[in-house]
Amino acid sequence: MTQPIYVAQPHLPPLEEFLPYLQEIWSNKILTNGGPFHLQLESALCDYLGVKYLALCSNGTLGLVTALQALNITGEVITTPYSFVASSHSLLWNGIQPVFVDIDPKTLNIDPSKIEAAITSRTTAILPVHCYGHPCDVEAIQKIADKYSLKVIYDAAHAFGVRDEGGSVLRHGDLSVLSFHATKVFHTFEGGAIVCPDAETKQHVDHLKNFGFVNETTVVAAGINGKMSEINAAFGLLHLRHVDAALAQRERIGTAYREALRDVPGICCLQAKSEVVTNYSYFPILVEADYPLSRDALYQKLKDNDIHARRYFYPLIADFPMYRGMPSARPENLPSATAAALKVLCLPIYPALTPQDLGRIVGVVQGA
Ligand SMILES: *Cc1c(COP(=O)(O)O)cnc(C)c1O
Repeated sequence: MTQPIYVAQPHLPPLEEFLPYLQEIWSNKILTNGGPFHLQLESALCDYLGVKYLALCSNGTLGLVTALQALNITGEVITTPYSFVASSHSLLWNGIQPVFVDIDPKTLNIDPSKIEAAITSRTTAILPVHCYGHPCDVEAIQKIADKYSLKVIYDAAHAFGVRDEGGSVLRHGDLSVLSFHATKVFHTFEGGAIVCPDAETKQHVDHLKNFGFVNETTVVAAGINGKMSEINAAFGLLHLRHVDAALAQRERIGTAYREALRDVPGICCLQAKSEVVTNYSYFPILVEADYPLSRDALYQKLKDNDIHARRYFYPLIADFPMYRGMPSARPENLPSATAAALKVLCLPIYPALTPQDLGRIVGVVQGA
């Protein structure tokens, strides 16, 4: 009897290690609203990630919603259709019209050379995604943003701990938003954070995530309840103690996959540039035309072997009902994204994946 293998398995440190945190919460009776664990986690994450200011929030989606609100983004925002649906949903929640731009077929990130043609008089910002934790072409994007006075908000949900030549990838753009959902590299069960360039922006974000309260009696904006609780923040502090080991395990697994799949005709492993320190948050492969099976047939064959790979990102955001009718959502406008959505398969990767599990997965892919 073999065990099912899922695409991700949440990392959970030993329960005994969490109990002292719970005891502290039970004794000080501070459950939320920027308590001691919340403050500690913000500061620990700033140190770990190498950023100056960061505001925790209850999840990545509310982080995106709040980041857009903090920068007063309105009108149209240019974004990628090749992402998790929350990227675009955060725009709709602010009454903003998403405008989809195609991706670069090599990186699967938004193609900067296609952005300018999509800018109109109503465009106020660009919302790119560091897909799979592989950094966007941040310089090209910033150049366009500067030329047209647009803000840049990065959906950095996949990019925990990712660094380029200059440091944390989270320093780019006006704001970057992380997700700490259970399936992400670093998690707090549910959670997220907005990386801010200065103390003033962080304070504004902190007000917005607390209904817009700036003091006991003054509300300055229609803010939301986007606060992280003390339980989640405490878990984050514990998880942070284990995250280096988890990242090292992910790297080991990613390297083993790459080695094992290198000579499989028709299977192409996506890779970040060599100067990037990535986090192996996902292990995406592209199933090309010269592979004996279609992507969906390989997905099914893995499933028949109780291996649950995921077709991230299929369908494209642009194919969901609330986006489909938009002019920029037409497949003719998005040829590379449309092709990628039909070829990609994310193989299971998580710290507890054993070499035997990996052998089982690779065996199915090789033996097709
Ligand atoms: C996970 C994810 C989100 C949403 O984060 P939540 O914390 O689940 O709300 C947004 N964008 C991308 C690309 C994601 O993968």
